Amino acid sequence: MQYRTFFGQEISRLGFGLMRLPVIDGDQSKVDYAKVEEMVLYAVEHGVNYFDTAFPYHNGYSEITFGEIMKKNNLRDKVLVATKLFTLGMDSPDYNPKKMFETQLERLQTDHIDFYLMHGLHGDQWDTLVNKFDIKNYLKEQKAAGRIRHIGFSFHDSYEKFVEILNDFDEWELAQIQYNYLDNEIQAGDAGVAFALEKGIPLTVMEPVKGGNLIFPNYPAIEEIKAKHGLADMSNAELAFDYVYDNPGFMTVLSGMSTLEQVKDNIAIADKSSIGMMTPEMKACTEEIKAFIAGIENIPCTGCRYCTPGCPMKIQIPAAFNFYNTGKKFNNPDAQKRGYERECGNLADCVECGQCVKACPQHLNIPELLKEVRAYLE
Ligand code: SF4
Ligand code: SF4
Repeated sequence: MQYRTFFGQEISRLGFGLMRLPVIDGDQSKVDYAKVEEMVLYAVEHGVNYFDTAFPYHNGYSEITFGEIMKKNNLRDKVLVATKLFTLGMDSPDYNPKKMFETQLERLQTDHIDFYLMHGLHGDQWDTLVNKFDIKNYLKEQKAAGRIRHIGFSFHDSYEKFVEILNDFDEWELAQIQYNYLDNEIQAGDAGVAFALEKGIPLTVMEPVKGGNLIFPNYPAIEEIKAKHGLADMSNAELAFDYVYDNPGFMTVLSGMSTLEQVKDNIAIADKSSIGMMTPEMKACTEEIKAFIAGIENIPCTGCRYCTPGCPMKIQIPAAFNFYNTGKKFNNPDAQKRGYERECGNLADCVECGQCVKACPQHLNIPELLKEVRAYLE
């Protein structure tokens, strides 16, 4: 395993994301303990020491399961634990960051968290945490007490917001951003990476393979592009990971692993990685794949949601179009089916009233398009 140094500590280049763990009977709360334990032990034996979870992952069972595994196998001193304060639902009278942190320590069966992150900051969440919950002082107190070792945040908003949040708190020690070769110009993006580097804030990366989309299973057009650049033998996962490992701005690259096979593959890729490893051919190949994906025609829904409030059947029209577009882009409808079934199980209820068509500024023939979506995803 390769490592980078963070405040005098060696941190593995590959981090284990604990958000897509194997489950039993498709129930996200029933984490398959035996499989996860095998995966975690293999990862630790092969040098992975950064484990990333969060309050809501697997409805709390990610933290609980990892806590049990650490306890049973005496791993606490061998691993660094990152977890996150849930930042949705702050309007609710039940929202209580202090109580949440105590629960997390209990679930993880530990007396300290190595990296405590504010989860997925976007919009005015950080302002609310500061102004309504006095979070800055609370985090400083917990750090002084040794219960939090390092304070950070994960992020899903614009570059401008990223800069604003980073500049707003002197105690930030790391940030976690979404980054891969398709997403290097959205959210924090390359500009955010450069800004964090300049400020001396290390970054961890989430979604290096875009939730699995950059694996491109059975996608002849992608294989053709790779072959054209002399990369026919390189796996799509390796190309995506290498793109991220190449960047000097990143400390650790997180991968949400679901099988032992993925753990083994990702460790092998990390072992070969180095900063500046992308050859001109690899760079040209990722650029061509990016352009190819951007050029794929899709339903031109902007996600404005003008169509949904008046739908008598409460159909989640933009969500349905989004699942369809993503499936088409990555030639992988199967990867969309779980989310589609969860959010769009009622498309057949459309009564073709035409309300949505009148509301849509893009003049989409929504009832007809919904039929196309159903034919593709059902
Ligand atoms: S046409 Fe179908 S999707 Fe559109 S508002 Fe009517 S029921 Fe809803
Ligand atoms: S109104 Fe049209 S563009 Fe807006 S979310 Fe609905 S379908 Fe998409």
